[in-house]
Amino acid sequence: MTNEAKMIAYGPVPSRRLGQSLGINNIPPKICTYSCIYCQIGRTLNMNVNQQAFYKPKEMLKDVKNKVKDAKSKKEPIDYLAFVPDGEPTLDINLAEEIGVLSSLGIKIAVITNASLLWKKDVRDALCKADWVSLKIDAVNPDIWRRIDRPYKSLKLEKILEGISEFSQIFNGDLVTETMLIQDVNDSVKELENVADFISGLNPKKSYISIPIRPPAEKWVKPVDEHRINMAYQIFKEKDIDVEYLIGYEGNTFAFTGNVESDLLSITSVHPMRKDGVNNFLTKAKSDWSIIEKLIKENKLVELEYGGNKFYMRKLL
Ligand code: SF4
Repeated sequence: MTNEAKMIAYGPVPSRRLGQSLGINNIPPKICTYSCIYCQIGRTLNMNVNQQAFYKPKEMLKDVKNKVKDAKSKKEPIDYLAFVPDGEPTLDINLAEEIGVLSSLGIKIAVITNASLLWKKDVRDALCKADWVSLKIDAVNPDIWRRIDRPYKSLKLEKILEGISEFSQIFNGDLVTETMLIQDVNDSVKELENVADFISGLNPKKSYISIPIRPPAEKWVKPVDEHRINMAYQIFKEKDIDVEYLIGYEGNTFAFTGNVESDLLSITSVHPMRKDGVNNFLTKAKSDWSIIEKLIKENKLVELEYGGNKFYMRKLL
């Protein structure tokens, strides 16, 4: 095994979307088709759209096998082998073969891709071998897309969106989408409605709205505030999309404890609760509204308005 190959697998790490996942870094840092303004690994130094071979699938299998063995000996569960590299995973020409050999381990396979190469049939075919695929859809307006994702110059959004739609029709696994919201870039009502329209046509299992929670590539980038997140959430919901937000509470979400306060924070860290929903929850928990006032006062919960209704959401980190 080469030194490089030893670096391929990492974890397992906890993730809200995938449970315990063993990460697979199949791309050397940082080769990508995009240079997103919010990228947490900085600007893309090597922008590329040409697929290449980086590691030998057999070396990858060996490395992953070792990590799986390690985890088993420590009794750490692994729910997914997840391709989450420091770049764009579909730039790896061996992706289909790698997913094929890794499948022999009997663990589900996930790929988080920016979707920019889905206009290529071989990329769609490779991703079809995975069990769970997350596609980035930050914008459907070409100008906004260029501003936020800063794509390689030859990429065309129209072709990418067509490829995404085609993929959604042939993929048998769990398809999810992720939309990063950046203040004054892609957070207008019009763009959010158009993005939601497009996503609803894909019929994803889940659609995530996220904000940058680590320092972005460009210092001027600002995440949207709770009001905008709630607005985006409601716009997606109106299109019948199963939507959640990812705002940085990976660890304890959905850990129902029976403690009213922490359960409320846990629920509202994933989606806002409407006032009547909060009332129902409090009644069931034999509690009252004073707990909401306390959490607002402590700056842990925020009250928001949308469409004439009041919503409650966990305060951003
Ligand atoms: S697609 Fe991902 S890795 Fe590439 S620049 Fe954007 S955020 Fe960074």
